[in-house]
Amino acid sequence: MALFKTIENLDEKGSPRTVSSETEKVKCLIIGSGPAGYTAAIYAARANLSPVLYEGLEPGGQLTTTTEVENFPGYPEGITGPAMMEDLKKQAKRFGADVRFGIATAADLSQRPFKITIDEKKLIEAETIIIATGATAKYLGLESEKKFMGQGVSACATCDGFFYKGKDVAVVGGGDTAAEEATYLAGICNKVYLIVRKDYLRASKVMQERVMNTKNIEVLFEHQTKEIVGDMSGVTGVLLTNKKGEEVKKDIHGFFVAIGHKPNSDIFKPYVETDEVGYIITDSHSTKTRVDGVFACGDVMDPHYRQAVTAAGSGCKAAIDAERFLGSVK
Ligand code: NDP
Repeated sequence: MALFKTIENLDEKGSPRTVSSETEKVKCLIIGSGPAGYTAAIYAARANLSPVLYEGLEPGGQLTTTTEVENFPGYPEGITGPAMMEDLKKQAKRFGADVRFGIATAADLSQRPFKITIDEKKLIEAETIIIATGATAKYLGLESEKKFMGQGVSACATCDGFFYKGKDVAVVGGGDTAAEEATYLAGICNKVYLIVRKDYLRASKVMQERVMNTKNIEVLFEHQTKEIVGDMSGVTGVLLTNKKGEEVKKDIHGFFVAIGHKPNSDIFKPYVETDEVGYIITDSHSTKTRVDGVFACGDVMDPHYRQAVTAAGSGCKAAIDAERFLGSVK
């Protein structure tokens, strides 16, 4: 184990430095603890890669903010998001994955072994890295939105839409995600209000047409969300303001925020290729990034599906890719 002694966290090239801390050598480092990270850990551990997984800012990932998960295969009765993540973690640990608290705060992927700084002080040198840092849904930032999170407020219609079967709901946003969520919910719910702040939808033409041709979607252009209202049972309505500044109230039970996601890829951007939003671009048939030995899986590289099961599937692929990579460089 080498000792590093430097002053600041990043050097002039943006590479990580540590403040007098030990360097640990790791064969397979997994960053992130959603379904992608834990599945990668299960496969990597069973392949004898002795994976070390850092859980990141939100241990368990986005699923820990949802209530019931009913669409993950293998849980016929459904399971809560936090319980499912606990199961995945236990399964990874059972095969020897070393699961740790800690946030990756800097990265140097310029050469192998790759260098990752944890919590701005500990340096890890990794032969291979699996990035499973996920994406963070953007929220409006209202107090009432926080208050009813998981009790009527959701950022995932596919995950939570079913709970509002036959009820009235609202979706906020004007992009493809909002259009897709609104049409998905229209198939389940009685009525869907699509709250759009501009006088047009940013979504693609085909999605716009789908929205406009769906009878039980009402688009409220030039409306802003002022407050989500509710009681002990959860959300009961939403207060909006229209372009004249007038207050409009809609009775709803579900409020779906679809104003975009931010992939958690910032520290890797100088090395891996990303799209304009920040999603890591991988080889179309695998989880390989532009850097040999660095793989990406789950929501940090997937703007399209964003499901627990697809994230888990890509985590499995990343571990297999990492194993094959290590085999090829021996
Ligand atoms: P976008 O960034 O495209 O759209 C976000 C929407 O939310 C915009 O209409 C924006 O309004 C609105 N918005 C942002 N902040 C607020 C706010 N504070 N209050 C109210 N409204 C707000 O995000 P998406 O998630 O929709 O899409 C991301 C990318 O993924 C896009 O490239 C999209 O095409 C792609 N995608 C593709 C799909 C597909 O092909 N099937 C499905 C889903 C996404 P404004 O327009 O005023 O800025």
